[in-house]
Amino acid sequence: MIDRVEAMTDEMVAFARALVAIPTVNPPGENYAACAELIGARLAEFDYEVAYVTADGFAEHSERYPRVNVIGELRGVPGAPRGATVGPRLHFNGHFDVVPAGEGWTVDPFAAVVRDGKLYGRGSTDQKAGIAASIFAIEAIRREDVRLAGAIEQSGTVDEESGGFAGMAYLAERGYISRERTDFVIITEPLNVDRVCLGHRGVYWFEVATLGRIAHGSMPFLGISAIGKMADFISAIERELKPALSTRVTAMPVEPAEARRPSININSITGGQPASGFQTPCVADRCEAIFDRRFLIEEPVERVREEIHAILRAMAARDADFRYEMKDLMTVHPAQTDAKSQLVSTMAGAVRDILGAEPPLIASPGTYDQKHVMRLGHVDQCIAYGPGLLHMAHQPDEYCRIDHLVDASKAMALTAMRLVGAH
Ligand SMILES: [Zn+2]
Repeated sequence: MIDRVEAMTDEMVAFARALVAIPTVNPPGENYAACAELIGARLAEFDYEVAYVTADGFAEHSERYPRVNVIGELRGVPGAPRGATVGPRLHFNGHFDVVPAGEGWTVDPFAAVVRDGKLYGRGSTDQKAGIAASIFAIEAIRREDVRLAGAIEQSGTVDEESGGFAGMAYLAERGYISRERTDFVIITEPLNVDRVCLGHRGVYWFEVATLGRIAHGSMPFLGISAIGKMADFISAIERELKPALSTRVTAMPVEPAEARRPSININSITGGQPASGFQTPCVADRCEAIFDRRFLIEEPVERVREEIHAILRAMAARDADFRYEMKDLMTVHPAQTDAKSQLVSTMAGAVRDILGAEPPLIASPGTYDQKHVMRLGHVDQCIAYGPGLLHMAHQPDEYCRIDHLVDASKAMALTAMRLVGAH
């Protein structure tokens, strides 16, 4: 069966190229329907029952940019819930949206160029190669006429790069991914072919606005500078919050290791008159900044929020001119699958058998759709494993090595056999 995967290399690369050649750029979410249909057509050809799940009712869903997900179940195994006579259900998921190409490319980001054993293009690593790898892993099993005792599903979903709400979250909310029917989920994100990813940290985005009082720029003492107040808040973060954060370390095996401590980043800041515009002399009466706080699985989200509120309250208590507004923008809870679970040990064993070395079990500093599988679908065995190199994601000249694509597909095929194969 491993040889069968190897023999399908050209077919697999051709399919990955076809996926990369569809610019599914998010935002705004271009060509989702076309990409879903390409995946759906291939699944149908490989004997899956295919359904398209459109997330209407979302602000980002529109006639021009429809949010179309695709899900397929391999035929030949009766689709019955767990507890019935069939074995476990294994679900492979990959997102097919990609971030904008950006600057600095030496190849056309959507030409799907193959050169020196690498497939180049936006989304090659993150994560269209992953979708090709899992589809051909199962196809190798099917072409070998191996009988399966359980069920296999594959999905291609949208909007992972913008939170996955119309994608994997929607499938989980609609019951396609749920504890009642789904035993194992493998998300084919690029965490390197030789590593298995158990989960990810949490994210808390918030916005703080400081409020000042406008005055003539030649007499700033008559006003209150909102920008100055924001500077005070930022220096409080530097002086008070950052040292506290640096003392906390997670037990999760986050890679890179620097990300085992929580962090805070200022994502944007705007105040006063737009810098690009014609200026008149004024004291800025409003300044807004957006903060990205990454938190550990050991940090309760209420504490993460309260820490920020406490700093702001203390500043207002010290300084009568410090007035502010604070708003939550987004919270993503951390997620982690037990390292001793059947899914992790089976996947790790398969990677070891293909590559000849024990794969490190890691966790991701950034978030991906695992949170939706675990938090909304309540499926407790979910991992990320895929062929791309993590450091290539979102880069110019993004590529996926073809030997990694094939090796990942082999490891996925072995994993599927061991989890749902007939014994
Ligand atoms: Zn991704």
